Amino acid sequence: MKTILLQDDGRYAIWRIRSDEKQKLFRLLFRRYPEREWGAFFRFGFRRTSWGFLITQVDILPPVAGDLDRQSPIVEFRPAYIQRALSSLDAHPLGIGVVHSHPEGGGVSPSMTDDDMDSYFSEEFERFSDGRPYASFILAKNESGELSFSGRVFDKGLWFELKTMLTVGDSLVREDSVRNFYQSPPSGEDIPNGGALERVTQLLGQKAPKQLRKAIVGVVGASGTGTPALNVLARANMGEVVLVDPGRVKDSNHQRNLAMKDSDLSVEPKPYKAALARRMIHEINPRIIVRSFAGDVLDDIVLDELVRCDLILGCSDANYARAALGDIAVQYLVPVIDLAVQMRAEDSVLNEQLSEIAYFTPGSPCPWCCNRVTATAIRYETSTETEREFMARAAADAERSGVDGAQYWGGTPPPELTVGYLTMMLGAMGAGYAQNLILGAAKIPHRRFQFDVGIRSFGMVEDNRRPNLECACQKFIGWSDQAKADRSVSKPQNWAKPLELH
Ligand SMILES: [Zn+2]
Ligand SMILES: [Zn+2]
Repeated sequence: MKTILLQDDGRYAIWRIRSDEKQKLFRLLFRRYPEREWGAFFRFGFRRTSWGFLITQVDILPPVAGDLDRQSPIVEFRPAYIQRALSSLDAHPLGIGVVHSHPEGGGVSPSMTDDDMDSYFSEEFERFSDGRPYASFILAKNESGELSFSGRVFDKGLWFELKTMLTVGDSLVREDSVRNFYQSPPSGEDIPNGGALERVTQLLGQKAPKQLRKAIVGVVGASGTGTPALNVLARANMGEVVLVDPGRVKDSNHQRNLAMKDSDLSVEPKPYKAALARRMIHEINPRIIVRSFAGDVLDDIVLDELVRCDLILGCSDANYARAALGDIAVQYLVPVIDLAVQMRAEDSVLNEQLSEIAYFTPGSPCPWCCNRVTATAIRYETSTETEREFMARAAADAERSGVDGAQYWGGTPPPELTVGYLTMMLGAMGAGYAQNLILGAAKIPHRRFQFDVGIRSFGMVEDNRRPNLECACQKFIGWSDQAKADRSVSKPQNWAKPLELH
């Protein structure tokens, strides 16, 4: 018998799962309840991160007749089932793990048999998969139906302890494993006393401030829509915010960037948007942990932090960022609330004051399925000046020989002319939806919708399109890093290195 020693250097594992997949799993695990356990192999995508290990569940390999010993009250995987799991390793780059239940009220500590099983499987799967990780999770319910779980992930000779399960769907759930629960029992200490959150508890109940306190929200883009969103999140006393924006402020940002002060206008070089947003959050609420990056959604260290989040707010108007967020939603199972604003005027009269909110979750139509991004725009955004000149010449040559030049060059896109009142409204709305999803207090009413505040009844339009079944977003759900080759966009070599701001 082997003893399994968990890493004690602070690194841990997170398990992300879709809500429909979780339901399927629970039906299977608890079918012999309350007395007997049951279990299954499952496939997962994974990412080795700076904080430990991410597991994104793809699906279960359900047991068929004879795979598990029905007579035994505990789970015993028979050779045929193990063989099927092992041979499936050739068909995909994913990891294989085991999940099993313990009888009602039996706790979720691994038994000696579990230790033997995990030692055996971790070595066996590592050998047959050329070094892929192995995961093992234990779930149980008590008499009142409350769930508890524990887990461990084996990678390159180390065992990481499972700390958190994040369920992703129309509603979001963050749950602590037993160990994490006892190590850091939810306390009220870092919740401001006095009246700061009185209205929240009056409206949404006593539990709400603690739930918000445990949440982590990512915000990509820290200007017009990003800063009002962050302002709302800071006042809600969120636990942690991960924010990223590659740019420095310009004077013209002042009328819509809530983090920018008059004194910032005279500073040279101009401060990073991410630095100002961080300052604003801490001025409102110093209790919030802020990880802020003058960097890009395409940076690996930024992605490491974003995959820990309950959800991400997309506050960038760049096509490449929207496409990247679509990939993150699908491949890493991190839902994204994407915000966009568009305004137009003719002869100084507004004819468009449009806002758009889209909720990208694994399985739902991605930005490509919704025609929300174009390859031409992404090519433009991610090119150097020299490449842009080259593409413009190629387009001109094509036009001269009677071919459509737009495939090479769509022209320089006009700047988005948005003003502060609309971006602030939408940013605040997006943060509100984020908060409500985390609390389970409300859902987003449509997968994707637009409205124009200048039109009667706001001219609300919803997009009910089904996903395009041919699109990559339907094929690599939960594949994490193992779908790297199928990402829409990767970071250009010449872009600046990310910088974490403190
Ligand atoms: Zn067990
Ligand atoms: Zn798609």
